[in-house]
Amino acid sequence: MLLVREQDKSQLDQLLHDQWQQMVRREGRQTAPQAAGESGLPPCPACGTAAPLINHCCSDCGLRLA
Ligand SMILES: [Zn+2]
Repeated sequence: MLLVREQDKSQLDQLLHDQWQQMVRREGRQTAPQAAGESGLPPCPACGTAAPLINHCCSDCGLRLA
């Protein structure tokens, strides 16, 4: 829970937006973080992709997970 004064709100929005942009850039991907896993699958420990495995390997980086 975060409380801000009304006049600070736009500043806070900008701050959070900037942090988000930096995070996205750091992760090197333009999509939402995989932690929550839309698919309900655990994210790959190497690249963070939460997608069904292909032949027991991560579909993104190819790491063998099973
Ligand atoms: Zn992976």
